[in-house]
Amino acid sequence: MRVASGVGLPLHSPAAAVVFTTVLTMGPLSRVDVAERTGLSSAAVTKAVRPLLTAGYLEETPDQRVHVGRPASPLHVRSDAAFFVGVKVTADELIGVVTDLRARIRSVRHRPLTDRAVRPVVAGIAELARDLLDDDPAYQQNVRSLGVAMAGDVDRAAGRVRYSPLPGWRDVPLGDLVAAATGLVTVAENDVRALTVAEQWFGAGVGVSSFALVTVGTGIGCGLVMNNAVIQGSHGVAGEIGHVLAEPDGPECHCGNRGCVESIAGAAALGAELRAVAGNPTMSAAEAMARAHAGDERLRAGYRRAGRAIGLALATVANLVGPQRIVLSGEGLTAVGLYQDEVRDTFAARAFGAAVDCELILRPLRFEQWARGAAAVAIQTLITPAR
Ligand SMILES: [Zn+2]
Repeated sequence: MRVASGVGLPLHSPAAAVVFTTVLTMGPLSRVDVAERTGLSSAAVTKAVRPLLTAGYLEETPDQRVHVGRPASPLHVRSDAAFFVGVKVTADELIGVVTDLRARIRSVRHRPLTDRAVRPVVAGIAELARDLLDDDPAYQQNVRSLGVAMAGDVDRAAGRVRYSPLPGWRDVPLGDLVAAATGLVTVAENDVRALTVAEQWFGAGVGVSSFALVTVGTGIGCGLVMNNAVIQGSHGVAGEIGHVLAEPDGPECHCGNRGCVESIAGAAALGAELRAVAGNPTMSAAEAMARAHAGDERLRAGYRRAGRAIGLALATVANLVGPQRIVLSGEGLTAVGLYQDEVRDTFAARAFGAAVDCELILRPLRFEQWARGAAAVAIQTLITPAR
């Protein structure tokens, strides 16, 4: 394992990287716990920990509770030791956050995007990063790197956006462009995979070696972690469950097929369907939700249909890859109360055999969390360099 240059983390061996990652994602932990979880000897743990304590990345806090006759001093990561910028590029705005080393959001800024061409987007990211760094003098000194996340086919290893829904974005060296514009070590990643990294290191994926994150927004995405590794896909495509067939005679999908999960349950498709059902071309998502909660049966049926499509998608993931846990999230889940029974019932009906035991966690997602995902990827490059 190579050590990222210029980011300052004293990881002199693969064992040190494993120890630091373990404390970062599972801490606070005693040295004995670290040794148990990593399979390293206590001498190896002590050797790995010493330079990290000296450099201020780890701390030992005396614990007043007495364990087996002696006080324990658990190790934990000092959150303020480093900060990270995360930026999510959407079609109409840039969302930026600064997080600490434990991926907690410290600052948030939004910047409207009027021109989606590469050059103005990169300039906008640089200005957003500058504004974020101005929020606190500590950021200026301790920001280590920047992560940028967007939808599409993003080759993280090469730092390139091979394809994105933004017009004109083909094979863009986004990592290098943003690094040149900001002066920060930069890593570019697909937005769903970035969010998956955030879950893997700092969320529902901690402690499980395989899980899936399914996001419901305008699109329906899926990030997969198998044997502790985020699946990249040989062709930049993996987990495209939005285009699994849910209804053979269903609505047309933007991919050219019919009845895809996304053409029924994606936020844009569902919104259009609900407006058509209500005969109200200007009805907002919030209004549709309110009316459904108030008892409008036609709208409720529309949400239930979306829930069945999502449940089928989740069962497909469980049947194909057998994750220990599936997290269903995304901004589309604000309406989850209207269809969670259909999600769970369809999942139970379609998951094969013991796959039905896969744990389902349903929770909505705030937009800032996408930018936090980008920051989590930047944090990861402290330990596993981007390239
Ligand atoms: Zn499709």
